[in-house]
Amino acid sequence: MIESEIIIVGGGPAGSACAWQLKQHGREVLVLDKAVFPRLKLCAGWITPEVLTRLQITPESYPHSILMFTKLHFYFYGRHLPVRTRQYSIRRFEFDDWMLQRSAANVERHRVKDIKQQGEEFIIDDRFRCRYLVGAGGTGDPVYHRFFREKQPRIPEKQISTIEEEFEYEYKDANCYLWFFENGLPGYAWYVPKGNGYLNVGIGGKSMEMKRRGKTIRDYWQPFTDKLEKLNLVTGHNFESKGFTYYLRNKMTKIRSGNTFIIGDAAGMATVDMGEGIGPAVESGLQVAQAIINENPLRLERISRFSVRNIIFSR
Ligand SMILES: Cc1cc2nc3c(=O)[nH]c(=O)nc-3n(C[C@H](O)[C@H](O)[C@H](O)COP(=O)(O)OP(=O)(O)OC[C@H]3O[C@@H](n4cnc5c(N)ncnc54)[C@H](O)[C@@H]3O)c2cc1C
Repeated sequence: MIESEIIIVGGGPAGSACAWQLKQHGREVLVLDKAVFPRLKLCAGWITPEVLTRLQITPESYPHSILMFTKLHFYFYGRHLPVRTRQYSIRRFEFDDWMLQRSAANVERHRVKDIKQQGEEFIIDDRFRCRYLVGAGGTGDPVYHRFFREKQPRIPEKQISTIEEEFEYEYKDANCYLWFFENGLPGYAWYVPKGNGYLNVGIGGKSMEMKRRGKTIRDYWQPFTDKLEKLNLVTGHNFESKGFTYYLRNKMTKIRSGNTFIIGDAAGMATVDMGEGIGPAVESGLQVAQAIINENPLRLERISRFSVRNIIFSR
């Protein structure tokens, strides 16, 4: 049996931020992740200045590709609304791996399946034992399913379906574009250039809304790639998109039950207006670390439920 005071399931931004904070306070942390890092994570990789600040990173100190945008090109029903701001794009393939290594936590490759509670302790797959258990395993997180799902089921209205692709591309336009509600999509499409010649394009929308209209996210993909071609943003590319779903923030979210916690997508923390999940994942991870270290109360109201306001005020 491998013992650790704290076990975190999942080494994405939520898990690694939590692990990093705990390790900084000298706590014993083991991160279990089913993937070998660096691993693919579907994500546009847009991050806010607050994410960097909270993680004590500067763009200069970050050793991988990072692009800064001083303007975002919003389009609402086709109407252009450029917004001056300061935002960044990173590649999750690089960012998550670096964050996990920086956390200095022990990491084991393991897919968590079975969790038992024995008194004050948790036993995972009869192989790992801990006193505090943190679920940071994304939408399908096993800690959520074992300890939270019954009292706090996922709300179908909060589910977002996405399709995207990140690929090497000699883009000519290094701006970031966001098209809301085009072609009837109940959400938005994005074009996000990355450093080192990568580009991320994708679409995301409310699953239930699409279902009500007799559609799936796939129905919106072709019109979107046609648009990219027409605008000369992506030409001659053979798209190989992938899909993923996650959940937006729900008012009633509880992320602690005794010594079990859920953070990031496991808790459904993404902002309700733009589905921004990295910031809330990091913030919830840091808060849970503080709750374990100091018995601090969790202050979910400090985790922003909206992105647009922060974008407008980030310069
Ligand atoms: C297409 C798309 C685009 C997005 N774009 C943005 C964006 O631009 N900006 C933004 O802020 N947010 C964006 N998001 C949301 C953001 O990606 C997520 O909110 C964020 O990744 C949540 O981080 P996390 O650490 O909670 O989960 P994850 O990053 O999903 O990490 C979970 C980890 O848990 C591991 N795991 C899962 N199950 C198990 C198990 N049973 N045992 C062991 N390990 C397990 C996985 O391997 C994974 O490494 C996007 C999401 C999608 C789908």
